[in-house]
Amino acid sequence: VFICLRGGSGFVGRELTRLLRSKGHEVTVISRQPGPGKITWRDLESNGLPSCDSAVNLAGENLMNPLRWWNESYRKDLFSSRIDTTKALAQAIAASPEPPHSWVLVSGVACYKPSLTAEYTEDSEWTPFDLLSKLVKEWEASALLPDNVSKTTKQVVIRPGAVLGRDGGAMKQMWLPFWLGLGGTLGSGRQPFPWIHVSDLAGIIAHALEPPVDTPSSSPQVFNGVAPALNTNYEFTKEMGRVMRRPTVFPVPGFVMNTLMGSERAVVLTQGQKVIPKRTLEAGFQYKYPDLTSALKEILGS
Ligand code: NDP
Repeated sequence: VFICLRGGSGFVGRELTRLLRSKGHEVTVISRQPGPGKITWRDLESNGLPSCDSAVNLAGENLMNPLRWWNESYRKDLFSSRIDTTKALAQAIAASPEPPHSWVLVSGVACYKPSLTAEYTEDSEWTPFDLLSKLVKEWEASALLPDNVSKTTKQVVIRPGAVLGRDGGAMKQMWLPFWLGLGGTLGSGRQPFPWIHVSDLAGIIAHALEPPVDTPSSSPQVFNGVAPALNTNYEFTKEMGRVMRRPTVFPVPGFVMNTLMGSERAVVLTQGQKVIPKRTLEAGFQYKYPDLTSALKEILGS
């Protein structure tokens, strides 16, 4: 099976590529940079989508880029790197003489309004309420295929929480302060912290790439890409400290996070949502790392 993957050079993309190749699939990465096994987005523009069975979009400017100050140009890049790449792929799928049988977009849980009590499944209604939820709305809308194509191409949206893994994502930035014994809860610590191990996210994406069993619907199937364990930031912080054998006694107040990161972005750490992977579990997905202890031991173990 032949799969086209935009964002395949990134943290999640590398894990997904490894998994798909280990299952015998052929993967072509669509990238801004040329290279072996890659085509560029310019090739996509001029030659269209290579004939493939599935297409996935994982592209996006890193939301937690520590080297970038939170300003208008960064916000613009966050939007355009997601929406333009998604639109370009959706248009290439629609224009393809043989569209792939599945099209998967990986977005995020920022669409669900942070709350200490509300629980969200894939069926929960939501309307944009802040910058990041507006981003998710526009991003997911830009993936929609025209009706005639959606009859043959299954559309899937996966909404992950913070993706935890050894070589990227949030862990890359959290590891050092925790190792130095400077780790601590963020904000009140009571806020939910939806998370998933990168290997499980790759597994959910691979599951979503399976050919459709019935005629696909005109609206996408949504799967929450989070672990079933509902943890708070406090629980996550204490478990990090326990697995790393480091103290976690330095809480970082919310206003410090807002000043350092910009409040529109700090919200993903200082607030959170209880996200339930209802449909992901119903689809029979078996998590390798359903709880924090197993996930953190695998990531920090050696
Ligand atoms: P990465 O930060 O590793 O980036 C993925 C890829 O996006 C890069 O390899 C790059 O591909 C492409 N990219 C980066 N910046 C730009 C840009 N300005 N314009 C166009 N393309 C760009 O992402 P992850 O693997 O961590 O995440 C994958 C997707 O999942 C992203 O869309 C992200 O928003 C989403 N997500 C991630 C979470 C996480 O915790 N990591 C949490 C929730 C959602 P190339 O250089 O080859 O063009």
